[in-house]
Amino acid sequence: MLKAFIARRRAWLARLIGRIRGDRGLVMVTVVEERPQHPRGNRLYVTANGGKASFAVMRCPCGCGDSLNLRFVGSRRPIWTLKSLDGPATLRPSIWRTSGCQSHFFLTDGEIIWCRHDAFAADELSDS
Ligand SMILES: [Zn+2]
Repeated sequence: MLKAFIARRRAWLARLIGRIRGDRGLVMVTVVEERPQHPRGNRLYVTANGGKASFAVMRCPCGCGDSLNLRFVGSRRPIWTLKSLDGPATLRPSIWRTSGCQSHFFLTDGEIIWCRHDAFAADELSDS
């Protein structure tokens, strides 16, 4: 409980500092053979098969340093859709972490659009 509270405060502070510094770097799609162990910021690393996105990893944009793993194929939820395999990334639905920093955001045209909890229906990203 306290740990989650501290993580949320830290995430909020990181977002605030980012805004003050004017961090407006867009998240760009980068197609890779293998997802990197330590993804860099402002990149959505995507593995593709037959021209279609399979999996992706990105660094959590809140500044907590965690990697977020996303799935575009299969029947197990949550599952996301990626608009295009190049350029600025657009994902649907939003990404909502249920552990750690609890970040909840949309990624649209490469921009992180932060959500307040309970504001939108979204698939949840667990850390299993
Ligand atoms: Zn985070």
